[in-house]
Amino acid sequence: MASRKKTKRRKKAKGKAAKAAAFKPFSLTQFKKSTCTHGWDHTEYSDNHDCHKFIEATIEAFERTKSISDIFDAAEKAALEHKYPEIWKDPSKLEWIASALVSIGVEAYCCEDEDFLCVSSAAFSEWIHQYIAHDHHKSMPSVYSARLHELLYADERRIIGYLKKRIPCSCLNSSYNMVKHLPKKGICGSLGCSRPERKVELSEMWSCEACRREHYCSEECQAADWSRHRGECKVWSEWKANCGSSQPS
Ligand SMILES: [Zn+2]
Ligand SMILES: [Zn+2]
Ligand SMILES: [Zn+2]
Repeated sequence: MASRKKTKRRKKAKGKAAKAAAFKPFSLTQFKKSTCTHGWDHTEYSDNHDCHKFIEATIEAFERTKSISDIFDAAEKAALEHKYPEIWKDPSKLEWIASALVSIGVEAYCCEDEDFLCVSSAAFSEWIHQYIAHDHHKSMPSVYSARLHELLYADERRIIGYLKKRIPCSCLNSSYNMVKHLPKKGICGSLGCSRPERKVELSEMWSCEACRREHYCSEECQAADWSRHRGECKVWSEWKANCGSSQPS
């Protein structure tokens, strides 16, 4: 549970999660023994199953990574398809891994005070869900990169809200109660933004009207990003037109 003191420290450390890096090794073995594993059933596969090795390799990759923007590369390298081909082919194993990563994110947040591991795990879990939707179920036309980007640079309100929604226990309730009144914020989708990590209130952001999937801090940033966004915008807009309201939020 987050104490008031801890919240103050977090406020001071605001923004650090996005930068970086050194945290003490997270022990998966220790976590499996804790009283609450936040909805993740680690006994579904035996401890020496590749699924557990996949998660360990991913956590190690996060720990070696120096920058939040490199964590997908690092995690993918650690758990590349040729190492675990049968896992990547099996949506149920991937779901189980994604659930583990959400729980690790929760544990990192409320028990270990490890913001970097928390956002890395949450974002990689989201990426796995998108991979399942896109590659296995064909229910998404592409990876929703703006959402991944938002999660990687998420503020406390967003990251706690994201994780809380995905766990059955009440471990994040008190933390959520402390941040839920804060305004929802996003970060600019333009790669050329002069203040790329600045959080902006959603109500003040410029959204791409065609796809509603990308948000910017200014009209200038939106215009500057169009050459990059154009391709994915077309994919999402066409998909939106075809799928109507059946798309996931
Ligand atoms: Zn819990
Ligand atoms: Zn911008
Ligand atoms: Zn668009």
